[in-house]
Amino acid sequence: MAQAEIGIIGGSGIYNMQGIQRAKDVRLATPFGRPSDAYQVGELEGRRVAFLARHGRGHLLLPSELNFRANIYGFKKLGVERIISLSAVGSLREEFKPMEMVIPDQFFDRTHHRVSTFFGGGIAVHISFADPFCPTVQSALEKACASAGVTAHRGGTYVCMEGPAFSTKAESRLYRSWEMDVIGMTNLQEAKLAREAEICYATLAMVTDYDCWHPAHDAVTVDQVYECLQRNAENSAEIIRHAVRGLPKERACKCGSALAHAILTDRKKIPAATKKKLSLLVGKYLK
Ligand SMILES: [Zn+2]
Repeated sequence: MAQAEIGIIGGSGIYNMQGIQRAKDVRLATPFGRPSDAYQVGELEGRRVAFLARHGRGHLLLPSELNFRANIYGFKKLGVERIISLSAVGSLREEFKPMEMVIPDQFFDRTHHRVSTFFGGGIAVHISFADPFCPTVQSALEKACASAGVTAHRGGTYVCMEGPAFSTKAESRLYRSWEMDVIGMTNLQEAKLAREAEICYATLAMVTDYDCWHPAHDAVTVDQVYECLQRNAENSAEIIRHAVRGLPKERACKCGSALAHAILTDRKKIPAATKKKLSLLVGKYLK
């Protein structure tokens, strides 16, 4: 099977990755069902990459319909060690302007009933999530934005809402009073699952609008988001090229051993079927 070291997830408006050479579509089955679409696997800047359109090519899936587990498991199966996640977000701060980038460092969960773990079924795992993003990938993204001449803000809290409707004004004002910075609908589950899969994960959030709190801007609409994303597609492709080139080959962060002290269950009591199903993720810890 084709292999890759860097995964790229394209959000709203980004359904394929320009510049991937010798690209090949890889369709994968996982123990958690089907990923959003085929992975586009090939070479970018001399590195092996795999691109996935989060909502499917043509944007068929709502945030609440995404099979986050299959998407992240698919990257793991391809050998991916780092994921760059591209996402459109609304800004909750005056100084994070539309067309600018944010590299968040925290999350706040406002989703409901989403599955955000690979575990259960006889194995209890509690990962550390105090620092949900990989600092190495964040640094690569920050440098890449500078190289591409695009304004980027490092740090900020990403509120993950359920959607699909955008926020009410009351919600938007409340998030601002809580000092949240950007709002989106998808990244939190991806980051948790990537951590469980011991894959580095960082978000490049493209600000498309001011949600609905800003008195001088109209409340967000799909047209507004889309127009901004169209204008932004070239920027993000260039940033990704710089980031892929700038990522060090070896991992010096802690992401690759996130499960080392996270499994609580007595190894002898983990059901054989669960061990088999999750062997790609935990096999090395259960020997
Ligand atoms: Zn890492």
